[in-house]
Amino acid sequence: MALITPDKWGALPPRKTRPFHKSSVKGIAIHWVGVQVNGDSAEITRSIDRYHRETKGWWQIAYNATIGQDGRGYEGRGFRNRSGANGSGRANRSHAALCLLVGPGQKPTDEMIHATRDAISAFRRLFPAALEIVGHRDVKKRTECPGDYIHTLIRDGVFDPGETMPGETPSTTPTSGYPVPNRLLKRGDRGDEVAWLQYQLNKHGANLKIDGIYGPLCRAAVIRYQSNNGLVVDGLAGNKTISSLIGAAL
Ligand SMILES: [Zn+2]
Repeated sequence: MALITPDKWGALPPRKTRPFHKSSVKGIAIHWVGVQVNGDSAEITRSIDRYHRETKGWWQIAYNATIGQDGRGYEGRGFRNRSGANGSGRANRSHAALCLLVGPGQKPTDEMIHATRDAISAFRRLFPAALEIVGHRDVKKRTECPGDYIHTLIRDGVFDPGETMPGETPSTTPTSGYPVPNRLLKRGDRGDEVAWLQYQLNKHGANLKIDGIYGPLCRAAVIRYQSNNGLVVDGLAGNKTISSLIGAAL
């Protein structure tokens, strides 16, 4: 779903904007509000905009976009303009700031996660090489933002919209005619053996696109399978993990 534009959610016009330079953009930094917030996501976004303009004296809302628990996304500065929320000029030039409208004790809803992936896809259409997805704390010292829980989701690749490149057609083969891996599989690997792994993980509750690419979501699914099955949790599909999946498949 497309982001709701500032005129639609009632932002005031920015006092000033500065565009990103393609050569310095590295990716997205995910933030949270830091205090529990509930209610209408448009109203929460308007109150952040007011706070940033009036109390902080900034040009406009400092986030490039905000995402509500209801799955609605709001364009703040937009993805063409530099962020103002990352805590340093350098980080504001390198990472767009995406704020999840949650605080301590509030877990992102599925709708929020899907809307975040959609927003990151939109960002990547502008900056296809800027693939980093990090937490605010990864680009600024001494901040808890976006909290430990969301930070773990980021590291597990939950917000990554996927790595299928334009023009690639994901395989939709419904049954496993894929070869059983006879080597260690890890992030970045590609091929039919990875498709086998994805197919088996889906039988254990994962919801992976069977595209033969060992991306962050595939790694996160391996981690979940390992921790559910008493295996060493390392995100690598080695002998023990593959044997366990074969055993479960028999
Ligand atoms: Zn933050």
